[in-house]
Amino acid sequence: MSARRSLTATVSLAAEAAGVYLRHAFVEPLRSTPSLPRAMHYLSTHRCNARCVMCGIWKEGDTAEEDLSPAELARILADPLFSRMEYVGISGGEPFLREDLILLLEAFLEHCPRLKRLSLTTNGLIPARMEAGLAELADLANAAGVLFDVSVSVHGVGATLERIYGVPRAFDKMERGVRLLEDLRNQGRLTFSFNCVLLADNLESVRDLTRWAGERGIPVSFVIGEQRDRFRTDGLETAFVSPEHREELLAFLRSVADDPAQGAPSAVKYRELADVLEGRGTRRLSCYYAMGGLLLGHDGTLYYCSHSRAIGNCRDNAPRAIYYQPDNLMYRRRELQHRKCPACPPYTRTRWEIEKDLPRMLAAAVLRRLRPGRSSSDS
Ligand code: SF4
Repeated sequence: MSARRSLTATVSLAAEAAGVYLRHAFVEPLRSTPSLPRAMHYLSTHRCNARCVMCGIWKEGDTAEEDLSPAELARILADPLFSRMEYVGISGGEPFLREDLILLLEAFLEHCPRLKRLSLTTNGLIPARMEAGLAELADLANAAGVLFDVSVSVHGVGATLERIYGVPRAFDKMERGVRLLEDLRNQGRLTFSFNCVLLADNLESVRDLTRWAGERGIPVSFVIGEQRDRFRTDGLETAFVSPEHREELLAFLRSVADDPAQGAPSAVKYRELADVLEGRGTRRLSCYYAMGGLLLGHDGTLYYCSHSRAIGNCRDNAPRAIYYQPDNLMYRRRELQHRKCPACPPYTRTRWEIEKDLPRMLAAAVLRRLRPGRSSSDS
């Protein structure tokens, strides 16, 4: 890229970031109702081929009939609520269990004209399906000018992953999928990374995973396993990191934050995550759900975010009417934004969130240079 084009791209990115910051810092707080959402997460199915120790949805025996069909999804996405959608994440259950995954992707591309980025989260345990369909998914998104990104859930290496997934040869299967992803990435057709849930079983060995991923140049994003109704975690308490191992967990998060291989946005995230868990401060990093996002369940249930109660079902009512229903908006403001958000662990760092947080991150970085040794909660 020539110096001139590079300068133009930098200026345009800076202008976009400034626009996002100004809008969310000064304009959105003055509105009586939120703007149309720009980011969403879609749980494409509740069916799963893994038998994870920290998730119980696979025990429910959901059938394909309960999942939104491509036609139902298209009808929902045609609602004006989705007309400004820019960022879409698709997960499950396991999305590759859906034989019509390509049709779901087509529905997003057709009905979300502003779409910039589409992310797919998979356990990587069905390499044959990935080999058959992943390149086509990536090419379809790319042809529409949409970035295609894959996140593979890898909670440990070797036997640790097999234990957590409850699937024989899980690591070998996942590695086969990763080889395909590396090929497609090297051809410039997608980007990909790993995500890992920190649990009682992998906390001690998680550095084996960071080493293994680091040798391949693949970034890992960490979240902390927690009990949630949506994942049917009743009775699975022993899978999660116990209070006795809290110090170990905090030390790990802080070591990730201090790892020079992490980019600045991730370092800030892990520092604040440790601070929130330790009770040293409330969450100040932005959340795309709070900025204007939603979560669509496999059966059409709508949520404001991953910690929200169900606010309605898009099979029964118009999505926009559900999202802007006064009782639901009051719940969003009072229960989510005022009570849950301040203590909600920051896990995501989307471009949209980073743009909003950029001024504060820059200020925190300057302060840390001036006052080394102080945590993000001090700044
Ligand atoms: S509760 Fe958490 S996930 Fe939900 S909007 Fe607030 S910060 Fe985001």
